[in-house]
This record gives sequence, C-alpha cells and structure tokens, in this order.
Amino acid sequence: MLESVRKKQQLYPKRYRDEDYLRHSALLLLSLGGRSAVRYSLCGVRNSANPSGICRLHKFCPYCSFLEKQKALAKYVPAYESGIWFSIHGSFTGDLTMNSTTDYYDLLEYWDAYKLALRQLVKDKSIRGVFWTEELAVNQMLPVHVLPHIHAIVEADNMDEETITKLKNMVSANLKNRLGPDCLAPNIKIKNLNSPRKLLSHVQYQIKPMKVAKAYDLAWTRASLNNRAQAVLLNSQLTDLVSGYSLVTNRRFKINSAGNLASKAKPYIGTRKKEIKAAKECVREVLEAGVDYIEMEDRETKDSSLSLAFERN
Ligand SMILES: [Zn+2]
Repeated sequence: MLESVRKKQQLYPKRYRDEDYLRHSALLLLSLGGRSAVRYSLCGVRNSANPSGICRLHKFCPYCSFLEKQKALAKYVPAYESGIWFSIHGSFTGDLTMNSTTDYYDLLEYWDAYKLALRQLVKDKSIRGVFWTEELAVNQMLPVHVLPHIHAIVEADNMDEETITKLKNMVSANLKNRLGPDCLAPNIKIKNLNSPRKLLSHVQYQIKPMKVAKAYDLAWTRASLNNRAQAVLLNSQLTDLVSGYSLVTNRRFKINSAGNLASKAKPYIGTRKKEIKAAKECVREVLEAGVDYIEMEDRETKDSSLSLAFERN
C-alpha cells in the first residue's frame, strides 16, 4: 500500500506534495488497516467501483481534505460583503491523556459541548450563523496526550464580552453535565475577520487532516532507547489513536454549519450550487490580491498548510 502511495506522489507531484506525506501515510496505513487503508492508498486512482477515484477519508487524507477546503472557500469567501465576520478558536486548557481505546469516546463530549453551545447562540440570535470543524491535536505520545477543539467562522453583529462569556459558560455547563466536575475548562479566542483575505485564511486553516507524524517522531527518540524497549508500546498507542479517533468519529461530521451559513437553511448567505463557477473565480481573485494576514497561534500554520492550498492542481 505504501508503494502505491509513493507511485501516486510521483504521478501527481503537486497534489501530494506535503513534505511528510509519505511518512504520514506510512503511520496511517499501519494503524488504519483493512478497507480504509486500501482506500486511502488508492486515493486518486479512478476505477469502475469508484469513478471519482477519491477516498473521501478527509479526516486523514491530505488530498481529500484539500478538496473539502476548496468547497468551503467557494461557499463562504464570496459572501464576505454580506456579513460581519469573526473567528473562534474553541479549545480547552490542558489536554487529555488517553489510556485505553474507550477513552476516545470522551472526545465526543468535548466536541458536543461546543456544538450545542454554538447552535444555542444561533437559536437565541446572539449570532446569525456559524461554520465549524472539529479537530484533534496530538500533543504527545508515550503516553498519548490529545486536545479536542474546534475552529469556527461566525457571522454576527458583534462578538462582545457578553457573548463570549455566554459561550464559555454554555460549553462548561454542557461538559459538566456529561462528564462531571473532572473535565477541562474551555479556552476561547475570538478574532475579527475584517477583510476577504482574513476570512479566506481562516476557512483554509479550518480544514486539515489529522497529524500524527511530529508527535510520533518525537516519541520515537525515547522509544528507541535501550534496544527499542518502548517501540512496541509506542506503535500500539499509535494504532489505538488512529483507530480510536476513526471509530468514534465514524458517523460524525467533522465539518458543520448552522444558521445563515448552513446551505440548507432559508437565510443561507453563502454560494448556491448554480453560482459555484463565479464563486471559484472570486476566491482566486482574493488569493491573487495577496496576503494581508499570516498571524495565527497554532503551530501548524507556520508550515506550508496556509500557502499550499491553491497552488496544487
Ligand atoms: Zn483521499
């Protein structure tokens, strides 16, 4: 399977050009196993059973994630003039240690806490719409430390202290209802997206596949000491991490929307299907106008993920 991944990279050097694509793929293929691994390895190869050729495992596959990103950009960037935009980084203080595969079910509670709270903000008209993605940061392995969080763009008149406190209290209450008092406290950061480019950068940043290579490589240095004493443990933790995340999110949407940013809702302000061609042109124009925004806190932004998206294919 890794061999077919390598061949694809030669065939489509732009599409699969992330520098750690092979490394990322090797770790995933070993952990995913079964049909998902085969699908992942054949992403981009058309056949009669799968005419588009894509694997649709956008939670893991950089190319399918890139395709989802293009869809979201075309939906929201052209709507810039129709709204007032903010970004939310909805995270928690600290992180979670995963000791067994069942621990992964707790992640759902953390994402749900934000999901319910964001929907409530729409319902009580504190905001008009929200588009958000559920993510998992892998902070460390041996033992596994992860941090579930969300990234969102919001359309609202304002995101003042009152609204932020309301959101925070709701997230906190939702979590305590489900998990009791021993849970992480919400940690929320808001930004004003006052240019089309800022809106674009945020939508771009919101959609990316899970990343495990960095945490694995750091842990490997320790695992390989003393005749690889902990290597087996590290690899079984990696398998639990990938299969645990995959299992609990199997029937769950990573990419979500509500209010006037939900394409099926009446007040939807984003691009409709018939306008998609003009929308793509608009996205290209915003991109070509240049960068006025690179400042973001997460470590991942400093690498290529921001600039990459539109240069491929
Ligand atoms: Zn794919």
